[in-house]
Amino acid sequence: MTVQPFNPTPRTLMGPGPSDVHPQVLQALGKPTIGHLDPQFVAMMDEVKALTQYAFQTENPFTIVVSAPGSAGMETCFVNLVEPGDKVIVCRNGVFGERMRQNVVRVGGEAVMVDDAWGTPVSVEKVEAALKANPDAKFLAFVHAETSTGALSDAKALCALAQQHEVLSIVDAVTSLSGVELKVDEWGIDAIYSGSQKCLSCVPGLAPVSFSAKAVAKLEARQTPVPSWFLDQTLVMGYWSGTGKRSYHHTAPVNSLYAMHEALRLLKAEGLENAWARHRAMHEQLKSGLELLGLDFVVDEASRLPQLNAVYIPQGVDDAAVRSALLERFNLEIGAGLGDLAGKAWRIGLMGHAAREENVLLCLAALREVLNG
Ligand SMILES: *Cc1c(COP(=O)(O)O)cnc(C)c1O
Repeated sequence: MTVQPFNPTPRTLMGPGPSDVHPQVLQALGKPTIGHLDPQFVAMMDEVKALTQYAFQTENPFTIVVSAPGSAGMETCFVNLVEPGDKVIVCRNGVFGERMRQNVVRVGGEAVMVDDAWGTPVSVEKVEAALKANPDAKFLAFVHAETSTGALSDAKALCALAQQHEVLSIVDAVTSLSGVELKVDEWGIDAIYSGSQKCLSCVPGLAPVSFSAKAVAKLEARQTPVPSWFLDQTLVMGYWSGTGKRSYHHTAPVNSLYAMHEALRLLKAEGLENAWARHRAMHEQLKSGLELLGLDFVVDEASRLPQLNAVYIPQGVDDAAVRSALLERFNLEIGAGLGDLAGKAWRIGLMGHAAREENVLLCLAALREVLNG
């Protein structure tokens, strides 16, 4: 049997990620691979770091891109910062808050849960009560943009509470980064992670991470070694620490980082505020169209994510049949429901390069065709 080269059909990606990758980002991937300690590559990494600081709105010197997907960004925060016995207040209003809890438990931490209904934001009042009831807590962990439901939580207010109660904040910004307002330094976020394939519209497999000075101090004061060798940031720090000091830890995913450089460069050229406004405008346009089709949103208007639109599947409509018709007839991918919303909702992403008028119009026309046709 002769195996043919793999030629995927181009799709329009309007699910929960990966999102449409900008053609320039795809082109960057195909540039010649050079050594990851080559001075040219090292200089490019310095730009990636500066651009990542821009995207996060931080001056944290500890700002890196982990060579693995968003989940590894999550794990990087928990394995490095949470020590056995540390109490962590974990907010859970969807799939990813539950993953945070599992991370805490696996490193021997104690998770104190603050639960909110799926589709609602994290309750600031409940978090305040939990912080008061647990004066020995060391961390507050929450998801800024819950991709499983489309709910946006008030990261600014939550991080202010964390500071007031002198706990470190750990924030999941996988879906929020560059899709909605996010200001790491201004809001006093201590540890934050994201992913390359959501609103940054890069290829999957990279995780931007940033630690504040307080988080770095907690890491440096650890009593026990970091339980993961690969994610141990005390080892990786030297690699990212700037010209001259770079040493081998693992082979950087060279071409993927070219793609990241280009994705971040495009973001900087557009301007963060403009990117946030574009996501908002495309969401408004999609929302009007979805409402005309009679589809109801899972999340209340006040806490709806522009980049992740969860809508209930109408009564009597076959979830899987609609999604496969969209894929087969229109090369359009939308997301299925996850966890509690499996089979009950669709998740329509407007992430990064996918947040464009032509995508909104395609999605609305295709849905209308499939639902009424
Ligand atoms: C996608 C996502 C993750 C996991 O990222 P991967 O790149 O799939 O590992 C974590 N948290 C949130 C909120 C996400 O949307």
